[in-house]
Amino acid sequence: MNGVQLAGQPILVLQEGATRTKGRDAQKNSIEAARTVADAVRTTLGPMGMDKMLVDSLGDVTITNDGATILDEMQIEHPAAKMMVEVAKTQDESVGDGTTTAVVLAGELLKEADSLLGQQIHPTVITKGFRTAKNKAIEILNDMASNVSEKDKALLKNIANTAMTGKSAEKASDLLAEICVNAVTKVIENGEIDVDDIKIEKKQGGSINDTQLVEGIVLDKEVVHPGMPKRVENAKIALLDAAIEIKDLEGDAKINIDSPEKFQAFLDEQEKMLRGMVEKIVKTGANVVLCQKGIDDIAQHYLAKNGVMAARRVKKSDMEKLAKATGGKIVSNINELSKNDLGYAGLVEERKIAGDEMIFVERCKDPKAITILIRGGSEHVVDEVERAVEDAVKGVAAALELGKFVPGGGATEVELARRLREYAESFKGREQLAVTAFANAMEIIPKSLAENAGHDPIDKLALLRAEHDKGNLNAGLNVFTGKVEDMTKCGVIEPLKIKLQAIKSSAEVAEMILRIDDVIAAGKSESKGGQQPPSPPEY
Ligand code: ADP
Ligand code: MG
Repeated sequence: MNGVQLAGQPILVLQEGATRTKGRDAQKNSIEAARTVADAVRTTLGPMGMDKMLVDSLGDVTITNDGATILDEMQIEHPAAKMMVEVAKTQDESVGDGTTTAVVLAGELLKEADSLLGQQIHPTVITKGFRTAKNKAIEILNDMASNVSEKDKALLKNIANTAMTGKSAEKASDLLAEICVNAVTKVIENGEIDVDDIKIEKKQGGSINDTQLVEGIVLDKEVVHPGMPKRVENAKIALLDAAIEIKDLEGDAKINIDSPEKFQAFLDEQEKMLRGMVEKIVKTGANVVLCQKGIDDIAQHYLAKNGVMAARRVKKSDMEKLAKATGGKIVSNINELSKNDLGYAGLVEERKIAGDEMIFVERCKDPKAITILIRGGSEHVVDEVERAVEDAVKGVAAALELGKFVPGGGATEVELARRLREYAESFKGREQLAVTAFANAMEIIPKSLAENAGHDPIDKLALLRAEHDKGNLNAGLNVFTGKVEDMTKCGVIEPLKIKLQAIKSSAEVAEMILRIDDVIAAGKSESKGGQQPPSPPEY
């Protein structure tokens, strides 16, 4: 019943059709829903994790191992489950990798919490213990981390490789790792990295091994006029945010044309204006024009006559990258274009890639924006390589941002668990239980890595704990050999930032879900047209 009884008279507080669950039931329900989400992605964790095939309502298929992508495509309804999806999104947006880890950790924290709730420990005690443990975990992580700088190419390549393992990109991961590291180190500007300066362009066809780093920008565009050169060396590039067209007469303006002569005069005038615009551009010394807006046919003709290559309707985001890559300035008034605004590229060339024209603006001088052109045999491959490259690029950027990395393969989590259990001893009673529970939850990562690779999780965890007790804090599970090894030696390392974020966001969502003890859901409203399938047409 959705109301309270007052002097025998029921008072309805909630709308009809609304449902309400309270107390332990509500808790159990939310925890269950959140854990279901975690379980769904757990089997994809790590290099040997399985892929998922997702089919959307239109029948489009995505095959992926990427936690964020999976959760994004699954149409999740339950509010607590949605909160888990948010964790993946936050993780993805802030660091770009570690999404599965964050969700799996949150699921395990909730599992541990559920068992404490079963022992009549109040949720506030649990959340307090979790928060204490989280802060300690952050401290331990910072303490464990080692330094990495942009000069440590080998370390950075390992970081890129670790981020990519498990995705189908793995077959060419050495080449891709190299490309990602070079890309990130190229766009560092005053110690800052904006991964948006790395344009990822993909073109189906060829093989993953044809993927390349272009020191400049690749545009999915063609040269606008057949009479223009398709190849310009030592290109001086005008970047225009203005149409090379005559604006349509606006409003009520009228021209009276009452004779063929007048019409001809009108056309001549237009042509003269367009030729004037082209002359202004040519006078600056530009031999390439990249225009965000349109270019009139007549203007195209004159540009071609002057040997200028041009492309029109270039995307705004590409224009900005072009400016960064070529050192040019985007000009929005042709009259103001000057020699100093031109950008430079050693070569601008239109090439046919897998049957489509693309314009390569390359060999730029110290470009601050560059392109990774991804190739692969099928759409699925290209898409998965793109996700892998994005993870690797963001991974390398994250590592350089804090200048720190930690060992992967579960090493970090086993060490965290060990030190947190030690730390728990400084507390008494229930709080100690909560901190210990947090510590134990960390071990879900090595356990899942082992399980997903077909190794015995209990055995491997015991071996890992023994190594860490001996002080080998880099001991992790090499899932390919099934052996416990020094992860820094086998090159399985990850940015500290990813681990920090995964711990923070998983602890936060677990806390949020634990605080819920009352779920009030409105009844499905009838009037929501969008929810109803459209009625069939009448014949
Ligand atoms: P996430 O979405 O969390 O990044 P991944 O599927 O990418 O999930 O898996 C990341 C985990 O895989 C990390 O814990 C990382 O240390 C581990 N890992 C990556 N490469 C290896 C490897 N060669 N051996 C063992 N573990 C690895
Ligand atoms: Mg990953």
